Amino acid sequence: MSAVDLSGQVALVTGANRGIGRQIASALAAAGAQVVAGARDPDTLEALIAAGDGRCEAVALDVTNDAQVLAAVDGTVAKHGHLDLLVNNAGIGGGTELPWETPIDEWWAVQEVNVRGVYACTQAAMRHMTKQKSGRIIDVGSLVGTYPMPAAAPYAASKCALFRWNSCLAIAAADYGVSVFIISPGLVATDMTADVDLFDNIPADQWTPIEKTGALVVDLASGRADSLAGRFIHAEDDLDVLIANADQIIEQNLQTLGMNFFDEA
Ligand code: NAP
Repeated sequence: MSAVDLSGQVALVTGANRGIGRQIASALAAAGAQVVAGARDPDTLEALIAAGDGRCEAVALDVTNDAQVLAAVDGTVAKHGHLDLLVNNAGIGGGTELPWETPIDEWWAVQEVNVRGVYACTQAAMRHMTKQKSGRIIDVGSLVGTYPMPAAAPYAASKCALFRWNSCLAIAAADYGVSVFIISPGLVATDMTADVDLFDNIPADQWTPIEKTGALVVDLASGRADSLAGRFIHAEDDLDVLIANADQIIEQNLQTLGMNFFDEA
């Protein structure tokens, strides 16, 4: 078990069958949490469940399927009595060299998974967390949501929307004892980044090890960073430094999305 002890916590992770979601799910289980791992095809979760030593279970969860979302979230609470952590990890990329050439349906499909899917899971979870008056929600965002990347425009637009949604949620959810975070895994070698020409020449030291995201999620689940709820945290950030400077971060509205206005005076 990792240094952080999450025993007693119940966590639901979306897109847990591969890539970053799988890593998050196994890190949470290793830290003692009971993990409900969601995947479109739950058969793909077999290895994760086997390695989870009884702390990992599978649920069918396509985040664009509202009935499945409700069944997964309500089923988790019915079985375990509570839901302490929702990790909205499921996501897809997309884009074309010229951003206007992406077929409309493909452009929209990215929003459906990365924005609507997160909203659906969050709404279902908040129905329980508001009653519990406790819980944490971690959205897996991306730095790409904070700057223009034309060849990944639908993805960048979705992660930017997710960012703003997350900060709205964080403010309102705090009144119900629910802490909300948005994180970025950094540039991680997964299926999502494997076929992107843009990343071909990125030196090895600019890639972030996948384990850092699992470690960050475990740390946030422990509650020790709740003073930073509503803020963006990168997997490469030093969480201890951020926690130590939480007052300044909030006072100066740092680690968040913002507009730099021209000073007309
Ligand atoms: P990945 O290897 O392509 O995995 C994506 C995961 O999302 C898979 O488990 C996939 O399930 C699942 N998924 C896709 N559509 C879904 C749906 N409709 N319902 C449920 N699950 C669905 O990608 P990844 O790199 O691990 O990305 C995970 C998250 O990290 C994403 O939100 C991504 O935007 C974010 N992120 C990644 C990077 C990076 O460098 N890799 C950087 C910043 C942010 P299937 O197996 O069924 O397709």
